[in-house]
Amino acid sequence: MGKRWPCKATAERLLNESKSRVTELKNKGIEPHLAVVLVGDNPASKVYVSNKVKTCESLGIRSTFHKLEATTSTDDLLRIVDELNHDASVHGILVQLPLPPQIDESRIISGIEPDKDVDGFHPVNVGRLSLGEPGLVPCTPMGVMALLADCGAELSGMHAVVVGRSNIVGKPMAQLLLKANCTVSIIHSRTKNPAELCRQADLVVAAVGRPGLVDASWIKEGALVVDVGINEITDDALAEKLIPADSKKMAAYRKNGRVLYGDVHYASALGRAEMVTPVPGGVGKLTIAQLMANCVLAAERLGSR
Ligand code: NAD
Repeated sequence: MGKRWPCKATAERLLNESKSRVTELKNKGIEPHLAVVLVGDNPASKVYVSNKVKTCESLGIRSTFHKLEATTSTDDLLRIVDELNHDASVHGILVQLPLPPQIDESRIISGIEPDKDVDGFHPVNVGRLSLGEPGLVPCTPMGVMALLADCGAELSGMHAVVVGRSNIVGKPMAQLLLKANCTVSIIHSRTKNPAELCRQADLVVAAVGRPGLVDASWIKEGALVVDVGINEITDDALAEKLIPADSKKMAAYRKNGRVLYGDVHYASALGRAEMVTPVPGGVGKLTIAQLMANCVLAAERLGSR
């Protein structure tokens, strides 16, 4: 029987480290400052943004929140991003994704000054990661690396399978694991026999957006399993299939009135893996903690210029 993975402890470590670095920056007269931009009224995005702003406050990072109408155009949003690029008091810019359909997301991401791009999505930061140069790296994969370090996982030579190849999670995750000397395979929607390939992995990182896709049949006995997926379950039949019929256990999957489930079939994976991260309360905590670390890093680099 596997164990739950202590994501909370790693998130707390990252937050404590950021807090000390904020104090050091303030002693030098630099107040780290994150500008958060939200376009429209996506309920999940509102929750994410509010958590980010609250976490900034708890660490002494200044945050300013820019709430824009759902009808905002690409050019209007680019103008705001450019103002923030030129505002010397701002060290980090975060435009909450997804953006409404009329907005060209890639133009917005490319419009952010790379050294203020705390999400690490700008093409310059993507290139820096792939070349192994210092930059800002996407928060979720960086948070997963911090977790693996805290667990003392000996990554060198491990076969790591990343399920999903998105620009924000799967690809940067694979790059970081490669940098840590893992042998990396990536499974995606066109991969043939994904369960068979995944069963060869010592480490599985699932970032697919398909609730419960990775079940025990995908997992080698004793593997480490990181579940990045956060999927809202609105279908009662699916909830019944995935979540044990026990009201206490059901409560663990509820967050802010929504039922959330990962990409890993938690109960069955626990029966084979050495450790599995829970959802909710797993990698999500690491992502926000790493975002704070990226803000502090951006302030340290920009403040010393
Ligand atoms: P995405 O939709 O951009 O990418 C999903 C990837 O999965 C694609 O590359 C696709 O090829 C692959 N895929 C789809 N179906 C597949 C299948 N049946 N078999 C194998 N691969 C398949 O998603 P994303 O932005 O990478 O997010 C993935 C999940 O992670 C979502 O549930 C999202 O909510 C969650 N997420 C969580 C955090 C966090 O902080 N924990 C951060 C970002 C994303």
